[in-house]
Amino acid sequence: MTRTILMKYGELILKGANKRSFEKLLCDRIKARMTRVLGAQGFEFECMQSTLYVTPKDDSMVEEAYEDLKRIFGIVSLCISYRAEKNMEDILRVSLENIPKHIKNCRSFKVDARRSDKQFPLTSPQIMAEVGGELSELCPEVKVDVVHPEIVVRVEIREKYAYIHAGNDHGAGGMPYLSNGRGLLLLSGGIDSPVAGYMMAKRGVEIEAVHFESFPYTSERAKEKVIALAKCLCKYTDKIRIHFVSLTEIQEAIRDNCEEDYFTLILRRFMMPIAQRVAEKCNAQALITGESIGQVASQTMSAIAVTDCTATIPVFRPCIGMDKEEIVEIARKIDTFETSILPYEDCCTVFTPRHPRTKPQLEKVIRAEKNLDREALIEKALDTMTDMVVEL
Ligand code: ATP
Ligand code: MG
Repeated sequence: MTRTILMKYGELILKGANKRSFEKLLCDRIKARMTRVLGAQGFEFECMQSTLYVTPKDDSMVEEAYEDLKRIFGIVSLCISYRAEKNMEDILRVSLENIPKHIKNCRSFKVDARRSDKQFPLTSPQIMAEVGGELSELCPEVKVDVVHPEIVVRVEIREKYAYIHAGNDHGAGGMPYLSNGRGLLLLSGGIDSPVAGYMMAKRGVEIEAVHFESFPYTSERAKEKVIALAKCLCKYTDKIRIHFVSLTEIQEAIRDNCEEDYFTLILRRFMMPIAQRVAEKCNAQALITGESIGQVASQTMSAIAVTDCTATIPVFRPCIGMDKEEIVEIARKIDTFETSILPYEDCCTVFTPRHPRTKPQLEKVIRAEKNLDREALIEKALDTMTDMVVEL
């Protein structure tokens, strides 16, 4: 038995003149990922007529390869198909050997056939009738229903082989990773920022990350948690560079010199320009945060306005209109949730004000930070920067 994973790509089809470069990126990613799972010589790969084909040489690896391919952005649907030679005898043999297990617990099925090779001697309706007829004889308890079948068995006659399959899965969707510039993700240990990173990566944006720590107020375990979260994202991106910057000195300066109600806002007014400097160093064109409007005091409309103006590059906040529940649902799907809820301190939860301002006015915030030498503090924080690459 030979099984081939068939994949279709989505929005790429719309990309006109750029289609080829998007397609190449996607093919390169699939090949790189499969090389990791199956070895460079362990699979056949083809891309024809908007369909991508991966055939693992060791058939027992098909399921593992399939799970990996489900996380490649740019693929909208995929399925595991049974490969047959391009003649009716082999198509029937492969269908009868493999398809009954997929349909036997269903109420009804139909067979759909498509020929992209018009030289094939039978027409599509003839193929459907033959395969459908024989399957129905073998599984008489399953009805043939051409209008509302529970399952559609597809026979695709392609250039080199015929492929038979029963049912697709959704792919990861989005655009191929690396097709849309680079963004710097402000990655905390929380639930929202990994989800924000995932959502931007899904649109093809390459992710680098910056994490702010505040040792000794935050612990080594908080840092390990962030590394673990980045590792989860690597299932989609392969690798991520994380920059670590210490905000300890800035936080102590804020604590000692500013009015308590403004602590968090002023801290965030440091985070954004520092992140921007890091972005400039690593050629990222935008910042990405996990903010969601109204979620906490520092994420009201007024609070975001007061912090947003400290960065001049675009700040993307893909969770901005989402409820916590919706964010959690994605966090569970991408496997970051359980790590995110581990109870380690984040620098944002160090020296938190008892009564944070929810409708801050910019002039008052600026007045509250007048005793700080912002530029010197930013420079000193940047001097603490270290980085590491997290890989799958
Ligand atoms: P999250 O679940 O992402 O931590 P949150 O609701 O706890 O979000 P905040 O702590 O106010 O919200 O942080 C808002 C955003 O600021 C985060 O989503 C993240 O992008 C960024 N951020 C917060 N803390 C850090 C940190 N220590 N390092 C890097 N970015 C941070
Ligand atoms: Mg947080």
